Amino acid sequence: MAYEVLARKWRPKTFDDVVGQTHVTTTLRNAIASDRVAHAYLFVGPRGIGKTTLSRIFAKSLNCTNRNGVEPCGECEVCRAITDGHSLDVIEIDGASNNKVDDVHGILDQIQFAPTTCKFKIYIIDEVHMLSQAAFNALLKTLEEPPPYVKFIFATTEGDKVLPTIVSRCQRFDLRRIATPMIVKRLRRICDAEGIDIEDDAIFAIARGAEGGMRDALSSLDQLISFKGNKLTEEDALAVFGLVSRHAMDDLAAAVLKGDMAAILRMVDRFDSAGKDMRRLTVELMDYFRNLLVYMYLGDEKAGGDATEEQLRSFTELAKLTDSNRVLKIAEQLSELEERLRFALSVRTLIEMTLIRCARVATAVSLDEVLRRVTELRGTLSAGQPASKAAVPLPSPVPAVAPVTEKPAAVAPAPQSDAATSGGEQEVNRSNGVAELYNEPVLKHTLEAFNGRVVSAD
Ligand SMILES: [Zn+2]
Repeated sequence: MAYEVLARKWRPKTFDDVVGQTHVTTTLRNAIASDRVAHAYLFVGPRGIGKTTLSRIFAKSLNCTNRNGVEPCGECEVCRAITDGHSLDVIEIDGASNNKVDDVHGILDQIQFAPTTCKFKIYIIDEVHMLSQAAFNALLKTLEEPPPYVKFIFATTEGDKVLPTIVSRCQRFDLRRIATPMIVKRLRRICDAEGIDIEDDAIFAIARGAEGGMRDALSSLDQLISFKGNKLTEEDALAVFGLVSRHAMDDLAAAVLKGDMAAILRMVDRFDSAGKDMRRLTVELMDYFRNLLVYMYLGDEKAGGDATEEQLRSFTELAKLTDSNRVLKIAEQLSELEERLRFALSVRTLIEMTLIRCARVATAVSLDEVLRRVTELRGTLSAGQPASKAAVPLPSPVPAVAPVTEKPAAVAPAPQSDAATSGGEQEVNRSNGVAELYNEPVLKHTLEAFNGRVVSAD
């Protein structure tokens, strides 16, 4: 028997099998169960996440002669014909290559004939956004009032390009990228069933590389098996897909958060020499800090379902090094980097510079900290020490450019060493409260000085 690729062999056959799209499958199942199926559906979402698969399951479920609840049996003649693409009543059309008005007229001519073997005549039009304006217009009238036995299922990667008049006649569903842990789970199941001996970290690497697409994940797994056989390690997966290992990613994030510039530069050099995909690294690092941020807010709610158990363990350690504000600023820097990489002449240089900037963000003194320190100092002063003897530690004044709160990239190191005395011996009144602190000459001076330093170091 000819080898069947994994993506095809393990294509979901029932609604239950579909991974990560429960918001869609639940609605469709309910519609079938309550016999309230609309006449047109639009599935929107990135490639490889199951739009066509879902369309076929839906078509089978509507037509299956031996349905099990709302799930198609997959065995009857109707189900088999749809699976093989031979059904006369479930017609799959590629919108990209049949996008002219004549193509649509061809479809409309057929629509007037009742289905031959099935209950419903179902048109699945993939990449529907590729239809020409005239083709869309030709379709409109029928879409509004199709014969009772006709159903349309449209799929597209670009929902915004489908005419609003078409969208408004459909029930629209947005399919999501599949969360990495879900892909990991499914890959593990498939590998076990196929007798493939694969390390957990290798599965994780494949899932990361798939960016939320199950089909890509299975194609990558196939490719890896062709390359290495049935025994697969993380090393193999990383080498084939140009990815950086999970541990290296943890180390890089820790170096950024600790402000360890030397470690950052050494790691970037190592990744670059090993031929890692540097653009990919940027995207992954951005996701990494995003997940860390979500973890810092939600904790055990599994970082929005996007982080695996191992990642969560790393996050617990990293969260001790920083606060959410800094992580947010780092994520912002990385997202800007992703934009700029498209036009970069030297990807590596740009990544180095950005990571150093991130590291400085991670170790900068925030306005809150300055406030806290000054408040502490006030406490000491109010405790009875003569104000004239307490020199307020101030950095040397630098011209203020803008308030620090408006600049995302706060990068100055803590100015503990230069506790200058310029204007340090000022009277501090004894009132409490942060608002009043702002009005104190000594604090004003401190903040201005910090602003100048922070901004000018950017
Ligand atoms: Zn069936």
